Amino acid sequence: MTSTTPHAPADPLTPHLEEHAEVGADAPAGWQQRGFSTRAIHAGSDPTPASGAVITPIYATTTYKQDGVGGLRTGLGPGYEYSRSANPTRTALEECIAALEGPSERAFAFASGLGAEDVLLRSVLRPGDHVVVPDDAYGGSYRLIARVAGPWGVEHDEVHLADLDAVRATIRPGRTKAIWVETPTNPMLAIADIAALAQMAHEAGALLVVDNTFATPYLQNPLALGADVVVHSTTKYAGGHSDVVGGALVVAPGTQAPWMDGIGAVGASVTDRIGFHQNAMGVIPSPFDAFLVHRGLKTLAVRMEKHCDNAERVAEFLLGHPRVRQVFYPGLPEHRGHDVAQKQMRRFGGMVSFRVVGGEEDALNVCKRTEVFLLAESLGGIESLIEHPGRMTHASVAGSPLEVPSDLIRLSVGIEDADDLIGDLDRALA
Ligand code: PLP
Repeated sequence: MTSTTPHAPADPLTPHLEEHAEVGADAPAGWQQRGFSTRAIHAGSDPTPASGAVITPIYATTTYKQDGVGGLRTGLGPGYEYSRSANPTRTALEECIAALEGPSERAFAFASGLGAEDVLLRSVLRPGDHVVVPDDAYGGSYRLIARVAGPWGVEHDEVHLADLDAVRATIRPGRTKAIWVETPTNPMLAIADIAALAQMAHEAGALLVVDNTFATPYLQNPLALGADVVVHSTTKYAGGHSDVVGGALVVAPGTQAPWMDGIGAVGASVTDRIGFHQNAMGVIPSPFDAFLVHRGLKTLAVRMEKHCDNAERVAEFLLGHPRVRQVFYPGLPEHRGHDVAQKQMRRFGGMVSFRVVGGEEDALNVCKRTEVFLLAESLGGIESLIEHPGRMTHASVAGSPLEVPSDLIRLSVGIEDADDLIGDLDRALA
């Protein structure tokens, strides 16, 4: 929960954390007054002292020559000892993400979105704790909570997060330690009210976790709305070019999980707990992957504007098509979550889902017929993708309360020319 409680001291088992926390806090703060694109391009990217290189190099090194026994080399700011613990290319990425999601205490980069989520779950939950999850969460997140954390003793309930009374009724007093939010959700694009849920979580003594993958920090800043931790699959819009798998966690200033105090010999500070687990579990991105995600972030603003422009055109087109039964896009005034989305998002993103009148077979045929929209999983890249969630991304939730309609198609609208995208869908739906 966000509180003014001072930061717990750094864990003596992870000495690199202390130096890291200082840099994570100082460097983004300098950029915090600047606009989004300025932060995206400059935060974390100080020219390299030795050469003046304006782009942080890919530090392909596992280890670092020490300044003395127990004295870490500090030429680049934080002390480095071993690249699982910290690597300068990863530090640059983490500082950039922290500056974009601000106000934040620290960002951490991981090998995948699910790797980031696993670290978070282990950092803030014990067996016997309870999590509230959205009833249309990303299938992989649900699988992780239900089938990995579940057998280990973490309990969960699914609920429609737009129904605040239902969320309140799902909270188990004293046992609910996190409300997990996705907004917009994958693939139904439902909207949850982050500020209202943050207040509810904090009244229950729980953390509010927001998966901000779909919106990105350009369109939505959950920490500013009261969330405690933001989750990203940086595989998606952050990387933006479908060439790297990655994840991130961003922690609000002063976030504490008092029920975890002392577990694993780490204090209650969520930043310290995640930092400890990042190193102890080792699910870190390679320096090359960190470089690619960081490069992607630098153009996030311009890409998101174009994704939004194109998605708006595609949603309007689908809305008027006789073979389309229902369109899900939070930018449409008829979308159930439109008012909340308008309150907490700058624009409405690049994801559009729709149901076809002809049922599952028709949906599968449309997926087969597009040429510009490539039939593929994932999302958030420059190229447009089409997929059938029931058979593809969300097959893992078949038979669960999160099962998706079989006539549903999900589009990740890319940044090609809008007329080509609409022409492609028009042909496929004919
Ligand atoms: N969160 C959301 C909303 C996602 O769509 C995904 C993947 O599709 C993830 C998390 C998991 O991320 P990754 O595939 O990078 O592990």
